[in-house]
Amino acid sequence: MITNPQMPAILSPGLLVVLSAPSGAGKTTLAHMLKKEFPEAEISVSYTTRSPRGAEANGRDYHFVDPLTFKQMIDRNEFVEWAEVHGNFYGSSKEVIGQSYRARGMALFDIDVQGGTSIKRKYPDAVTIFILPPSMEELERRLRSRGTDSDDVIQRRMLAARAECEKGAQSYDYLVINDRLEEAFLQLRSVLIAERTRRGRVDITGLRLNSPD
Ligand code: ADP
Ligand code: 5GP
Repeated sequence: MITNPQMPAILSPGLLVVLSAPSGAGKTTLAHMLKKEFPEAEISVSYTTRSPRGAEANGRDYHFVDPLTFKQMIDRNEFVEWAEVHGNFYGSSKEVIGQSYRARGMALFDIDVQGGTSIKRKYPDAVTIFILPPSMEELERRLRSRGTDSDDVIQRRMLAARAECEKGAQSYDYLVINDRLEEAFLQLRSVLIAERTRRGRVDITGLRLNSPD
């Protein structure tokens, strides 16, 4: 980033967006709404060593790989970040960043706090957004109403949720409380629109401000 005070800082024209939340806070629901609003957004499909759940499809929801393949990808430096979450490995491929970050696109990462933090370290102009539930009681109610997890899994997720919320609330750029869905979506949408107009991201070369007349 150029820091000459006379000139706008040059940020990369594309938006690199990280969405994180404790499981059940509504991240998947909101990410789908965002994809409709910003069709150009490319959602990163992560690699994982966990098995597919329900109707999940390989290549659409995740790339499901075995632990050996995952390890080889680490060794070949193919991930922008990877982490162990709930006993399984998850990683984001570097590909999406190359494709949509440089042009005026948008790359969307739906990953956990560890991953979001390491992307922010590597790309300081990434926009990190943490989605919070209105209360822990409501989070548990949503996890139960989704009907995809056993009691055991819900207990474990609730334990992890508190720690994740603390980390996200301390370090992410934006916090969106998903109480009323429409309101949370409006806030997310506003953040992305505002970030696109950030100084340094807007192309003002057409004004030829620095050329002597
Ligand atoms: P995540 O991807 O964060 O685990 P989901 O998007 O699957 O969460 O949402 C968990 C459950 O909560 C789903 O049943 C979803 O329909 C519901 N949900 C999401 N947002 C809201 C909201 N604002 N109010 C009530 N229920 C919600
Ligand atoms: P799930 O198994 O429920 O789909 O995901 C569990 C957690 O892993 C979620 O918090 C999800 O955001 C996170 N996750 C998914 N993909 C990645 C990834 O590529 N990297 C990291 N760090 N976390 C991921």
